[in-house]
Amino acid sequence: MSLEQWVRKAVWQMAGYTPGEQPRGHQSFVKLNTNENPYPPPKVVLDAIANEVDGLLRLYPEPSSLAVREAASRAYGVHPDQVLVGNGSDDLLTMIYRTFLEPGERVAYPDPTYTLYPALATLQGAEAVGVPWLEQGELPVEGLVATQAKVVIIARPNAPTGHVVSLDLVARLCRLTSGVVVLDEAYGDFATDAGWPLLSRFPNLIIIRTLSKSMCLAGIRLGLGFMPKEMAFQMHKVRDSYNVDRLAQAAAVAALNHLDAYRPIIDAIVQEREKVILALRQRGFQVMDSQANFVLATVPNGRRSGHQWLEELKKEGILVRYFGSDPRLSDKLRITIGTPEQMERLLDAVDGLLQDNT
Ligand SMILES: *Cc1c(COP(=O)(O)O)cnc(C)c1O
Repeated sequence: MSLEQWVRKAVWQMAGYTPGEQPRGHQSFVKLNTNENPYPPPKVVLDAIANEVDGLLRLYPEPSSLAVREAASRAYGVHPDQVLVGNGSDDLLTMIYRTFLEPGERVAYPDPTYTLYPALATLQGAEAVGVPWLEQGELPVEGLVATQAKVVIIARPNAPTGHVVSLDLVARLCRLTSGVVVLDEAYGDFATDAGWPLLSRFPNLIIIRTLSKSMCLAGIRLGLGFMPKEMAFQMHKVRDSYNVDRLAQAAAVAALNHLDAYRPIIDAIVQEREKVILALRQRGFQVMDSQANFVLATVPNGRRSGHQWLEELKKEGILVRYFGSDPRLSDKLRITIGTPEQMERLLDAVDGLLQDNT
C-alpha cells in the first residue's frame, strides 16, 4: 500500500485550511493580516503566566479548566457548568463537530464567512452548506432552516465582512431550526451588543468566544464555549483529556478577572476603526461598516487588482489578508485595525501607491 491508500480519502483530497501568514521576523512588518490585537496583554495577565512557571509544570493541568470556568462564570453571569474551555475557539468548533455531526450530516452557515467551518466539515465527513447572506448582509433564516442542517454557525460580527446580523433573527433561527445554533462571537467585544440574552432562552444555542482578539492572547490559545449544562456535559466527552495547559489556564483566569483592564484597549481599537474606515473611503476604497477589529475594503478602480494591492503593500512592509480564491472577495482586502501609528503607516503606503498610479 502507498501513502495515498493509507490516508483517509477526505484528508488526501482536501487542500487543508490556510491561516494568515505568520512570517519569520514579523517584527519588521506592520502585521494587519490575522486580526490579532496590536497591544500587549495587561501586566496582571503577563504576571499570572510568569507566576505559573514553576516546578508544578511537571503535573497535568486541571482537565476541565475548572478555575477558568469559574472565572468565566463570574465575568459573564453564567454557571461554571455551562462553560466549556478550548485550546482556542477553533478547538471548540472541532468539539462541536465531533459531538453533533455524523458523517454525511450537514453543517450550514451564511456565506462568505470563516473558512474554517467548511474545512472542519471535510475532516468530520460532514457536508458543508453555505447560504448566501441576504441583501444588506441580513441573516438568511429561511434558507438556513431549509438546509435541515444539524449545526448552523453564525459568526457575529462576521469574518471577513465585519458586519453583524440582528439578534432578533438569530433568535428566530434558534426557534425555527431543528438543529444546534452556534454563535461565533470571536469579535463580540468590539461590537455594540452580544448574544448573552439569548443564552437562557434557547436550549439549542452555543456561544463561543476567544481570548485571541479582544483579549490580546492569540499566542496562548484559549476559547470559551457557553451552552446549557446538559449539552456541556456531553461535549466534555469529546474534549482532549488535557486540552488547555497550565499557562493558558492561568492567563485566562487573570484576563477574565480583569476585564476592566481591557476596556481602554478595546475602546482604542474601536475608535481607530472608525477613523480608518473614513480615511480609506476618502482614498477611493469602498469599506463596509464594521463591528469587529478589522475592515473589509474593496480596492479603488485603477490599474491594481486586489492581489496586486496585497503584494505591493507587502513590499512596503505591510501585511493584510486577501481571499483571492473566492470571486466575491477577489477585489477586497481585509485589514486588521492596529495602533494609530500602524494605521498611519498603512495610509501613507496607500497614498504612495495611489500617487504611483497616475
Ligand atoms: C479568529 C477566529 C476564531 C478562532 O479563534 P481562536 O480562539 O484563536 O482559535 C474563530 N472564529 C472566527 C470567526 C475567527 O475570526
